[in-house]
Amino acid sequence: MDKMKALVFKDVGNIGMEYIPIPHVKECDDVLLKVKKVGICGSDIKIIEGKHHFKPNTVLGHEFCGEVVEIGSSVRHLKIGDRVAIDNNIRCGFCSFCRMGLTSQCVEIKFNALGVMRDGGYAEYCLVPEKQCYPLPDEIDDTLGSQVETLATVVNGMNTLQMLPYDYVMVLGFGPIGYLFAQFAKNIAAKVAVTEIDPFRIQVAKECGLTVWNPNEVDVVEKITDFTYGRKADIVVEATGNALETALKCVTPGGKVLPFGMDSSIQTTVVPNEITRWATKILGLYLGQNTMVPSIRIFQENRLNMKPFFTKTISLEEGLSAFECLGLDMQTLQHKPKSAMKIVMTP
Ligand SMILES: [Zn+2]
Ligand SMILES: [Zn+2]
Repeated sequence: MDKMKALVFKDVGNIGMEYIPIPHVKECDDVLLKVKKVGICGSDIKIIEGKHHFKPNTVLGHEFCGEVVEIGSSVRHLKIGDRVAIDNNIRCGFCSFCRMGLTSQCVEIKFNALGVMRDGGYAEYCLVPEKQCYPLPDEIDDTLGSQVETLATVVNGMNTLQMLPYDYVMVLGFGPIGYLFAQFAKNIAAKVAVTEIDPFRIQVAKECGLTVWNPNEVDVVEKITDFTYGRKADIVVEATGNALETALKCVTPGGKVLPFGMDSSIQTTVVPNEITRWATKILGLYLGQNTMVPSIRIFQENRLNMKPFFTKTISLEEGLSAFECLGLDMQTLQHKPKSAMKIVMTP
């Protein structure tokens, strides 16, 4: 049997290169992709740490694009050779959430996400249902094509926020998600500031021409108050998963807080009366939702400065070093300073 290279997540703290059988079309709506590029996501790091739901012995990688090399008998919309971006979250289409348009809450979504619960893109080939594939125009190269799903989550956030041209925006955490929100805010809002503790990422924020504060060094509540002439932020995007309390202190009365970062190990205290008194809108949301096509459009028209976003491209074999660059010590599973924003692999 033909084998392929794959980075297999064995169990918490244990991920490594293996040679596994190349999958082939089984279901009539299957498409086999030759993976062109796959991004490493913060949630992949969380899976390795055991801080995100996971399934042992799975090929990770949910941010990817590829070329169609095999199609099932009922595939009608794709042909061999098509280049497609992937929505890794397979929605059933039958539950009441799906049928009422809230597909991010599909009751089956957590059981079959590609690259989390079933084999994903950290491999030379990946089996994908046809309906998860989105054809890519020529203007979007493979590197950018790998990030359509990432952008789709942020576009869902933008739809929820309804950002206005006179908004003051604050983004807590300047990882890839904070980066994308800040780029939108730079295009749309009156003013934007970001926070970040990691020196490498602070540098990237500066390179993007953004105002950036390190919450370990300055009082960010004071900073946002001065920055907005005493008003505070109309919109606070919390893109770290651990700073909701700070977000609530930085938002203006009537303003919106978007808790976007995910860390299931964090608990926090809120004062319900303050949310009522200050009319704060806390807007939860999850994944992308009908936002793959909008994201392709945004990338096709080059609407965001994506240059400093991509730190480097590496091979699958070098994958373990990438987790180190993204701040995870693979020996101890302790955090260390990061030296990357987005790393993309070529299988
Ligand atoms: Zn991701
Ligand atoms: Zn569903």
